[in-house]
Amino acid sequence: MTEQAPIVVWFRDDLRLSDHPALDAAAKTGAALICVYVLDDKGSASGVRPLGGASRWWLAQSLRALGKDIGTKGGNLVLRTGKAADALSEVAQTTGASDVYWNDIAIEACRGVTREVATSLSRIGVEHRQFCSDLLIDPSQVRNKEGRGLRVFTPFWKRVVAIGDPPKPLPAPRQIKSGPELASDRIEDWNLEPIKPDWAGGLRDSWSPGEASARARLREFLADSIRGYATGRDRPDREITSRLSPHLRFGEISPRQVWHAAQFAAAERPAIASDINKFLSELGWREFSRHLLFDHPDLAQKNLQSSFDAFPWKRDTKAFKAWARGQTGYPLVDAGMRELWHTGIMHNRVRMVVASFLVKHLLIDWRDGENWFWDTLVDADPGSNPASWQWVAGSGADAAPYFRIFNPVLQGEKFDPDGKYVRRWVPELAEMPSKLIHKPWDATPLELASAGITLGKTYPEPIVDHPKARARALDAYAKTRN
Ligand SMILES: Cc1cc2nc3c(=O)[nH]c(=O)nc-3n(C[C@H](O)[C@H](O)[C@H](O)COP(=O)(O)OP(=O)(O)OC[C@H]3O[C@@H](n4cnc5c(N)ncnc54)[C@H](O)[C@@H]3O)c2cc1C
Repeated sequence: MTEQAPIVVWFRDDLRLSDHPALDAAAKTGAALICVYVLDDKGSASGVRPLGGASRWWLAQSLRALGKDIGTKGGNLVLRTGKAADALSEVAQTTGASDVYWNDIAIEACRGVTREVATSLSRIGVEHRQFCSDLLIDPSQVRNKEGRGLRVFTPFWKRVVAIGDPPKPLPAPRQIKSGPELASDRIEDWNLEPIKPDWAGGLRDSWSPGEASARARLREFLADSIRGYATGRDRPDREITSRLSPHLRFGEISPRQVWHAAQFAAAERPAIASDINKFLSELGWREFSRHLLFDHPDLAQKNLQSSFDAFPWKRDTKAFKAWARGQTGYPLVDAGMRELWHTGIMHNRVRMVVASFLVKHLLIDWRDGENWFWDTLVDADPGSNPASWQWVAGSGADAAPYFRIFNPVLQGEKFDPDGKYVRRWVPELAEMPSKLIHKPWDATPLELASAGITLGKTYPEPIVDHPKARARALDAYAKTRN
């Protein structure tokens, strides 16, 4: 009897064992498996956006977790660098593999890479199979009459919901039959983690990447925190949202696992049905953003509304630095930017406020903010990040109108009424009374002194005046429209 040839399973943004259709199908053949991850650090040549700093840190931890999980099932994770087509062909040839299996990523540049891989494999007589699990539904299935993707969220999400439940998630294989021994790179040699200086302490304290943590987080969220999500999700001072975004970004959990777990929770506890619906519609925004990216591969570079091409953005390095470092003198903005720097994440409401501040109060191009987020967010997503920035800037599909300008003081008073969030991230304001914490410049000298604050010394004066900045933004917008 001839021995069955091994199968290579190529892991990408799907760093998990459960609901991994490619792994499931490969394991079911009974063949030995060679699990491979390829880091293409020169991804820009293929058009795939190279990861930012915080995401690189996450990737290193996630790969360690995946390697351990594969090990407990009996297999090994082989790490390679370079072009995926070269690395996978070499692995397949060395091991005599008959096939390479992977899950599709519905992003044009990623599909370009898989086309290259497929061509390279067929040249050496190796088969390939591709599966879906990256999204709830493939973008090709949600089209308007002209065959284009939908650009308005509500009809988009109605359509996705009407199509019905996505396929049920698959269990992890019980065993991974190990393939031939193969040399592997070491994660430590990939320079994914910062060393000098090691700025990742806050990330280590805040996160535990990997599939097990992702699943535990989802379980705990649905069991304990979801009640009140629909009304409370806008409050950065409460820990009410799921914090699943980086786990979803790296595919440590799939959107359909989240979908089915949430539907199950709603069926068991009808009292939380409206919270679940809201939560799923937020997952819908992730889906919507990815579908937009599918139709607009240059989403991170090009305004979806071309009228914005003429917008008079300002080059203001000093103001940008103050924003990035959380030194604008607006407490909610500064708290958000410092939370981001320390933990690699920022609450959604605060993301909207800081993004609006950069684009509208400072008139700095949304692409600069998007790039900063790309580098500092652990959940930096090629779809959600540019789509959300364009949404805030007003240049996007289904965007907030440009003339809707968030007032950072009112946003703070509404969504962080006691200043708990600001006190945590801007400790120099910790002693400020709640009624003044979002506008310390309104405090009397006595109030400032008793809170230990000297404006301009211990905490900055506002770098722009809100009413003037608002008027300037509206003026710039009107000129563009004309
Ligand atoms: C300027 C800006 C940039 C953003 N950049 C990113 C990004 O790079 N990556 C990213 O995942 N999200 C991004 N978001 C969306 C949102 O802020 C985060 O998804 C959310 O804060 C993650 O927290 P959570 O997991 O607790 O969310 P939950 O409220 O628990 O939501 C569940 C999941 O739904 C998805 N989701 C929720 N809100 C949104 C949204 N508005 N748009 C898209 N998906 C959403 C996320 O995958 C999230 O994990 C951005 C928003 C703004 C305003």
